[in-house]
Amino acid sequence: MPRAGATVLLCSADASPLAVAAWSPASGIRARVWSFDPAATIDPAFFAARVQAAVRARSGLLDARHDGCRLVHGESDGLPGFVADRYGDVAVLQFLSAGAESWREALVAAVRVATGCSVIYERSDADVRALEGLEARAGTIVGTVTQPIVLIEDGLAYRVDVGRGQKTGFFLDQRDNRARIRALAADRAVLDCFCYTGGFTLAALAGGARSVCAIDSSADALALARSNVAGNGLAGDRVDWRDADVFAELRRLRDAGAAFDLVILDPPKLAPTAQHAPKAARAYKDINLLALKLLRPGGLLATFSCSGGVPAELFQKIVAGAALDARADAVIVGRLGASPDHPVALGFPEGEYLKGLLIRKSA
Ligand code: SAH
Repeated sequence: MPRAGATVLLCSADASPLAVAAWSPASGIRARVWSFDPAATIDPAFFAARVQAAVRARSGLLDARHDGCRLVHGESDGLPGFVADRYGDVAVLQFLSAGAESWREALVAAVRVATGCSVIYERSDADVRALEGLEARAGTIVGTVTQPIVLIEDGLAYRVDVGRGQKTGFFLDQRDNRARIRALAADRAVLDCFCYTGGFTLAALAGGARSVCAIDSSADALALARSNVAGNGLAGDRVDWRDADVFAELRRLRDAGAAFDLVILDPPKLAPTAQHAPKAARAYKDINLLALKLLRPGGLLATFSCSGGVPAELFQKIVAGAALDARADAVIVGRLGASPDHPVALGFPEGEYLKGLLIRKSA
């Protein structure tokens, strides 16, 4: 039996070679393909080339108003199990499969060369590591991390806690959707549910929102969100921060007769796999129903699901069911997805995890 992470040749039943892959004996996904060219050589030069190509493909996303993005997005960049995010001069890496783990040194070297980043930090502490039989690991690999790390997105400075934040510290996948909200927010009373470190809240404030009610159950995330608002000179008195469970808080807001012009629902992954879909569907329906009730006629709802186990069609059905039960006439005015630094390989449609709908409630 090959060791975990070893390069193996995948063959069809009649023994013709199909692909070279990394062996993951502990995982339900036993082999992750490096290349569908069975003759490909898997060595440090292979990883240098793949990382270089991924970084080059993002060059247009880094400019005077943006100094970060996702640099490597796993399977979709031909590097299953490997993620690299950039925040200014800091690269944060995740090795999430046995194959990525066994090529860790080559991948770190490749990121250093391709980006010139002086700090490289590791956040290989996602739950999926356990499915690969790998221990969690986090810490500095190269240089010194001076907290807080700052990311510039759309000209706004976001403090990012790369050590303890979610994922690698920030939800880079929502970049385009934050820009959308910014463009829609003027003069609106906004409700930002699951606000985390203030991504959509800052975008709405910068876009001229009249007020933002921002809810999250993480006190640490809210503290960072507050400092992000203050750090950008945005008027903090426009924000009503609520350290609360969104499911309960939406009911309290409804009972208090609150009303909003723009609601954002960006919950955590409620269904990691299809098995979790029925329970997740009830939760999605619950918050969407309440959000639609809280929306004034003519108001907008930006509603998301980042659950791999809930496909786009099902998500739309859930939201439609919520509108029906809320007795709200509503139309889809936009379909939202992850930003282009989170591409979806045509051969890996499972990579399309983030889907969103922009809904307008009839006046
Ligand atoms: N919209 C954010 C990302 C949201 S991540 C952005 O653009 O940056 C999901 C957030 O939901 C996390 O901050 C987590 O603390 C919060 N959360 C999870 N379950 C919750 C619940 N039941 N009530 C309130 N917040 C919750």
